[in-house]
Amino acid sequence: MNISGNISKMKTSIENDEVVYELRLNNELVNISELVGKTITLEYQNQINCIACGKKTSKSFAQGFCYNCFQTAPQAEECVLKPETCRAHLGEARDIEFAEAHCLIPHYVYLAIASGVKVGITRHTQIPTRWIDQGASKAIIIAEVPNRHIAGVMEVHLKQYFADKTNWRAMLKNVVANDIDIASEKLKAIEHLPDELKQYVMADAKEWTLNYPVETYPLKPQSLTFDKEAKISGTLKGIKGQYLLLDNDRVLNIRKHNGYLVSVQAD
Ligand SMILES: [Zn+2]
Repeated sequence: MNISGNISKMKTSIENDEVVYELRLNNELVNISELVGKTITLEYQNQINCIACGKKTSKSFAQGFCYNCFQTAPQAEECVLKPETCRAHLGEARDIEFAEAHCLIPHYVYLAIASGVKVGITRHTQIPTRWIDQGASKAIIIAEVPNRHIAGVMEVHLKQYFADKTNWRAMLKNVVANDIDIASEKLKAIEHLPDELKQYVMADAKEWTLNYPVETYPLKPQSLTFDKEAKISGTLKGIKGQYLLLDNDRVLNIRKHNGYLVSVQAD
């Protein structure tokens, strides 16, 4: 196999209780789960194309945008990273049609365990994708809310009691706090909610467990980047979150290289 294209976030699905990853290179999909245990070579072609407009950009902003799109594209608006700042429910957004499809729709507030327990939010269509992207081992939905703004407000409130970031090194080393009972953490979270937010709680929510295609986890993950190393080659030891785990504890964050033009070779 030898194909090339611009990278975007790996596509995921679940088959037989295990996450299946597909590498996206423009319109091509490569089942990269099948390459675990094999030698793989990725070579950066020294070109980045903006994931919004497609134009060449010398530098990637916010994981794949050219500077102009970073400033103006609806998918790079502030509320992507800070949902509580979303103003779509007041009719204000860079692009109101985009906001209607992405902000003014049901969102979930959840707890996930990647290393420790953390709170997060996501659009209702992104379950379990969002958790897989974060490398979570377990997850549970706390509440379903009608829009992104309310999800953000609830998350900000719960950040007083729960972490909101994933420790990516611990996640990749698979240091998972197995003693955390996510269902009882959910009950604690509900108790902390003010009355006006309690109405959105999902009483009955499935407890998710996610298994990743990994042969060996790194002991001391060393992050690779195409900015420093054009050719990255080795045995693929596994995939977790949006990371490829290579031999010698090397890890490559695929999402960080959105828009990078690369060629991929495997036996
Ligand atoms: Zn652009």
